[in-house]
Amino acid sequence: MTKQSVADKANPFEIAQAQLDKAAAKLGLDPAVHAVLREPLRELHVTLPVKMDDGSVKVFKGFRVQYNDARGPNKGGIRFHPEETIDTVRALAAWMTWKTAVVDIPLGGGKGGVICNPKELSDMELERLSRAYIDQVGRIIGPDKDVPAPDVYTTPQIMAWMMDEYSKITGGYNNPGVITGKPLAIGGSAGRGDATARGGAYCTREAAKHLNIDLSKAKVAIQGFGNAGQYAATLFASLLGCKIVAVSDTKGGIYSENGIDPEAVVKHKLSTGSVVGFPGTRPISNEDLLELAVDVLVPAALENVITADNANNIRAKIVCELANGPTTPEADEILYKNDVFVIPDFLANAGGVTVSYFEWVQNLSNYYWEEEDVHVKLDKKMTQSFKDVLVMSLDYKVDMRVAAYMVSVQRVAEAMKLRGWV
Ligand code: NAD
Repeated sequence: MTKQSVADKANPFEIAQAQLDKAAAKLGLDPAVHAVLREPLRELHVTLPVKMDDGSVKVFKGFRVQYNDARGPNKGGIRFHPEETIDTVRALAAWMTWKTAVVDIPLGGGKGGVICNPKELSDMELERLSRAYIDQVGRIIGPDKDVPAPDVYTTPQIMAWMMDEYSKITGGYNNPGVITGKPLAIGGSAGRGDATARGGAYCTREAAKHLNIDLSKAKVAIQGFGNAGQYAATLFASLLGCKIVAVSDTKGGIYSENGIDPEAVVKHKLSTGSVVGFPGTRPISNEDLLELAVDVLVPAALENVITADNANNIRAKIVCELANGPTTPEADEILYKNDVFVIPDFLANAGGVTVSYFEWVQNLSNYYWEEEDVHVKLDKKMTQSFKDVLVMSLDYKVDMRVAAYMVSVQRVAEAMKLRGWV
């Protein structure tokens, strides 16, 4: 069995627990605090009968995990996926706990999921399933309890149906603060679209300052050209002045020493379905893209792409992990030894949840901000979080991932202690 397939089969929740254990050991964490943080505080398993278009009834399984709400209402997306498991949802809920803590927003961590294949459902079936899920989990979510959001295969439209259903079952009045990632017309936030990539760009700017790298002369390679990768390409060029030399998607990658115009590639992908074949570039494989001699590498597609097999070949000075879990623990150690500066996923991609938090705040106050305000506030949050993690990393001589865990775990532990839970 290859290392990749071992990683694929690893239980994600056991990985999340092992990562916590490492930070707990470094912090000398109180054993009772550690024991609470190793498990979700509560979870709800639901059975969802849904009427299909042909008149039959199909029964789906769903979950909502509330991992820890010591710092505020649980926050985390809802996935619709055929291979969803409770352990994946638990791991993702744990990671949300650390993500909201690392950016110091007053929220906890949660996650939800339904085992289904949305590609096999009609829009009407998808709407009925979304409403059925809220009818069941409605009893434990709410603006001051648990605030879901979109995730894999769930969209702003699904958030709109879910918010509407929640409003109906709680008395029929408008209740937009129950869920984020909504369309703008019903309480979404300006600036949510590119927030994940923008947060990563702000972190990269700070990393470059720390490492004395001039980003106006920097070359960048980006793996993945979806929501995170596309915006990363445009923002790393427009905000940071970098030259984007390679991008890729499932069909392959493109490379140009002279730089690629991200906006033009976005148009090319819209019309052809892929970045491949963009004029003035040569093809490059997804594997070779990772090993290019660039200043910044942005994995923005899949998990487990930087492994013990290729970590020694990574030549980037900074790896900005917009994807969740792109680097395996063995690779992490190799990169740290080779002085590759990794901005870990739950810090690098926390811009998304930070603007979700802004959306929730706007919903609760019923006052909506300009896009520029969102950018300024996001920049402040990301810059401060990056600095907090960097200081921890330098103080304890640990890599940025362990440091990010230490910052988060300390914050959640402090909240639990102050509340008198432990
Ligand atoms: P997406 O579905 O919009 O895009 C994924 C991209 O990856 C697509 O361009 C796809 O072609 C490409 N891809 C898939 N398999 C690939 C492969 N084998 N090789 C190369 N490219 C491949 O998803 P997204 O929202 O951009 O998310 C990407 C990553 O970022 C995920 O790990 C996600 O969890 C993470 N993330 C996204 C957000 C967000 O706000 N969108 C927030 C936090 C984390």
